[in-house]
Amino acid sequence: METVKKKDIRALTKEQLRDFFVSEGDKAFRGNQVYEWLWQKSAHSFEAMTNISKETRQMMETNFVINHIKVDQMQRSSDGTIKNAVRLHDDLVVESVLIPTKTRTTACVSSQVGCSLDCKFCATSRLKRMRNLNPDEIYDQVVVIDNESRLYFDRPLSNIVFMGMGEPLMNYNNVLKAIEKITSPEGLGMSPKRITVSTSGVPKMIRKMADEEVKFKLAVSLHSAIDDIRTSIMPFNATFTLADLRESLQYWYNKTKSRITYEYVVWEGINDQQKDVDALVDFCKFAPSKVNLIEYNPIDDGEFRQASNNAIERYVQTLERNGIVVTVRRSRGKDIDAACGQLANKQ
Ligand code: SAH
Repeated sequence: METVKKKDIRALTKEQLRDFFVSEGDKAFRGNQVYEWLWQKSAHSFEAMTNISKETRQMMETNFVINHIKVDQMQRSSDGTIKNAVRLHDDLVVESVLIPTKTRTTACVSSQVGCSLDCKFCATSRLKRMRNLNPDEIYDQVVVIDNESRLYFDRPLSNIVFMGMGEPLMNYNNVLKAIEKITSPEGLGMSPKRITVSTSGVPKMIRKMADEEVKFKLAVSLHSAIDDIRTSIMPFNATFTLADLRESLQYWYNKTKSRITYEYVVWEGINDQQKDVDALVDFCKFAPSKVNLIEYNPIDDGEFRQASNNAIERYVQTLERNGIVVTVRRSRGKDIDAACGQLANKQ
């Protein structure tokens, strides 16, 4: 007998769900109830939908599946950071990270399986991009971390960063759909101000986001404001040049008036000179900016080395003198390969 491939029920919008129930001779309202189970209550099975009749649950069972992610492995770092290896319905695996501070819990989520970009310093770039994550797969990572935060830290999740595996702007539609669900009162009801999308810089998509007047924050992984240098460590910069990136960011700022954060690692012999700092100041002075100087997390081969404290101090002082907010961020979760750029499905 041929098996009919069941549809993923969470690929349907609320409207489509309502229409489906009407076409089955039921009330449109049933769609609202089921939608609430699927998103707000994160039901893993039709069985769990206790205010829906048994017949209806069985009918759904024959038509649909709920593709929930499964946490394959959870690792806890000595600093409290938690890394989840998450298995998807087709057996591919991505990682997400819970980062606790005294007052906050931040979820760092993945947007793609692997990554299509080729940043030389990032472990994820060694994995080929297998596919984009669906909105529900992104949403589920957030729900899992929210639950872990309540369980281990006695508080709900407070912030989300799209800084896990993948380039979120190369999976734009699904990332936006996921954020819509995360921020909707019918989903998790989180404020978009607590969500940051981090991109290596895809100018066309930055303009699109600006046009759509999204309310979340934007971070750009810059690492160098000099084209040759940036291209040597982030080869796609040859296509998406700094001039183009800057123009798109200017456009973003004009539309959203939302401050831009730059992520930046200072490496010995790569971007640790005064000219590098000056170029950075020059690049970001068109709008209120913040620079996060991230500690480098070595990935195996030792080609890159974190610059000296003096070099980092030079960045801090020059940036501050020019009125640019700067923070120096220590890594979390290094002992379990959960820090920036270390996500590579190693266990
Ligand atoms: N593709 C998006 C999302 C990934 S975010 C982006 O590039 O922004 C991961 C962040 O960690 C980026 O800022 C990236 O530049 C940084 N990163 C990558 N490898 C790193 C490493 N080995 N050490 C420190 N930071 C790293």
